[in-house]
Amino acid sequence: MLREPVACVVDPYAGGMSGYTGRYEKRLSDLNGLYENAQAHAALVTRLNDPVVYDVEDFRPGTDSGDLNYGVTRMSPGCVDREFFFTRGHIHEKADRPEIYYGQSGNGLMQMESPEGETRVVEIKPQTICYVPPFWIHRSINIGETELVMVFAYPSDSGQDYGIIEMSNGMRHRVVSGGDDRWELVENTSYKPRTGEQVAAFMKKYV
Ligand code: ZN
Repeated sequence: MLREPVACVVDPYAGGMSGYTGRYEKRLSDLNGLYENAQAHAALVTRLNDPVVYDVEDFRPGTDSGDLNYGVTRMSPGCVDREFFFTRGHIHEKADRPEIYYGQSGNGLMQMESPEGETRVVEIKPQTICYVPPFWIHRSINIGETELVMVFAYPSDSGQDYGIIEMSNGMRHRVVSGGDDRWELVENTSYKPRTGEQVAAFMKKYV
């Protein structure tokens, strides 16, 4: 049976879109354990009364590989100590599934990491489309002073695996304020590289 076409209207500044079928939000306390400065994180949660730091509204037509989930993410500006606000980050459960992000407003970065631990960073400004290829862990970061709003789309059977970041004590690099571009990468000193077997398990192809 044919699905009916759908149109959703995006608010490029406030985030969100009409016709969404799902919505979730993350508070600063949900990111416990992910920031370099745990003390500063705890203090900020208290001082700001545990604010919502990002929310997502999405449209999920189904769960087939040939279908497409899409939506809008909105991220608050801010820093924990020197580290910019970020999303938890994930690899797709079917890791060979790609994703695109399309900047609407604000200044962001997509931090990507291969299972072997290589880092790539793409700047996302309004009108920028970022292609996240298959097999890359990805995390969005707001490096601006305003909301960061992006549209995203990925195959409906992708799934999300957040454990890959926990298993290695975070991503290999942290994005902190400073440097010539206003942001720079520093090593995550707690990072534990994945073993050859762990890497191989993530590099599997799905049909
Ligand atoms: Zn994704």
